[in-house]
Amino acid sequence: MKEIMPINGQFAMPALPYEGLGEVISKETLGFHHGKHLKAYVDNLNKLLPGSGLENLPLSEVVRRSEGGLFNNAGQVLNHTMYFEQFAPAPQPMSEKFAALLVRDFGSVEAFKKEFEQKGATLFGSGWVWLSADKEGKLVITQQKNAENPVTQGLNPLLTFDVWEHAYYLDYQNRRADYLTALWQIVDWPVVESRL
Ligand code: MN
Repeated sequence: MKEIMPINGQFAMPALPYEGLGEVISKETLGFHHGKHLKAYVDNLNKLLPGSGLENLPLSEVVRRSEGGLFNNAGQVLNHTMYFEQFAPAPQPMSEKFAALLVRDFGSVEAFKKEFEQKGATLFGSGWVWLSADKEGKLVITQQKNAENPVTQGLNPLLTFDVWEHAYYLDYQNRRADYLTALWQIVDWPVVESRL
């Protein structure tokens, strides 16, 4: 994964790399999710960092070494940065090479997507479903609660779907499974694959 570095002990608010995502995620949801929720996590992270002893470390290291409020905000900044970056309104497809890895570890691309959606749908409460690579390069799907990120388990995170209600409630209300299924339409696979 690409490391996110602070400048003078402060993390910058990540820009949205697109104007919208069509019907899959509305501009209203993007406005609240990026402009309000993520902004609050960035502001809180920058308030909590000074004096923590973790200033000037890459964001993933702050997540690995922190706890409490600092961990929650650092984790959510890392999670949301990766989430928003991996989408595009006209996304590029998965490479044959990456598809072969999914076939190797899940049986088929469809079986991977089904398990990923199922783990997202069944995560109780707020959190994230992730595809990561382990130390041997094997691809694994994990459920992470609240602000957790797979880096705390020694995994390299590649793809994530946010299942906090704020990610889908305006567009899909209680239909989390429909939101998860729709997200495949906007995954920009070269971004995901570049994290490997
Ligand atoms: Mn979110």
